[in-house]
Amino acid sequence: MPKLIDLAGKQFGRWLVLARADNRGGRTMWRCQCDCDGKERIVYGTHLRRGNTRSCGCFNREQIAARAFKHGHARAGQHTRAYRGWRTMLQRCRDPRNPYYGGREPTPVTVCERWLIFVNYYADTGDPPPGKTLDRIDSWGNYEPGNWKWSTHSEQVRNQRRHKPKPYRSKLEDIQAYTASLARAASA
Ligand SMILES: [Zn+2]
Repeated sequence: MPKLIDLAGKQFGRWLVLARADNRGGRTMWRCQCDCDGKERIVYGTHLRRGNTRSCGCFNREQIAARAFKHGHARAGQHTRAYRGWRTMLQRCRDPRNPYYGGREPTPVTVCERWLIFVNYYADTGDPPPGKTLDRIDSWGNYEPGNWKWSTHSEQVRNQRRHKPKPYRSKLEDIQAYTASLARAASA
C-alpha cells in the first residue's frame, strides 16, 4: 500500500484541496473547491497530481468562449451566417433529437474531426455566398473538406438521398452518446 500523500491545503490550478473524501474504486479522492464558484467537488488524487484536472471545467469553458469571441462570428445576438451554418451542420449530425438525424438518412452523417472546430471549418469554406448554404457533393459522404459545395435550398432538396424515410426513434444509446460528446466538448 503506497503511502498516502496528503494534498489537503494544496492548490492545483484552480482547485483548492479541502480534505480527503471516501475512496472510489480503491482510489484516493479529495474534496476540492474551485476558485470560480466556491462549490465543492470530489476529484481523483491522481488527476490532481498529474495535472489532468485544473478546474471544475470553468477554465476550458472560458477558453472556448474566448476563442469563439475572438473569431468574431459568435457575438451575442449577431452570429454570422457562416457560424449559423456550422451550428446547423453539427446539430444535424450529432443531436438525435434533430429531425434530420437518422430520420431521413438511415446512415447517420458525421462531421469530420477537423470541422468540429469552427475556425477550421471557416478556414476551409469561408463565408457562404448570398442565398446559399453548405451542401455535400456526395450526399452519402460526410461533412468534410473535399465533399462540400454551396447550394441553394432547392439544389439541396434535389441532392437529398433518395430514400423512403424510415420511422426513426432516438435510441437511448444515441442520446447518451450525444450527451457524452457535449460533456467532452465542454471539458476539452
Ligand atoms: Zn471552476
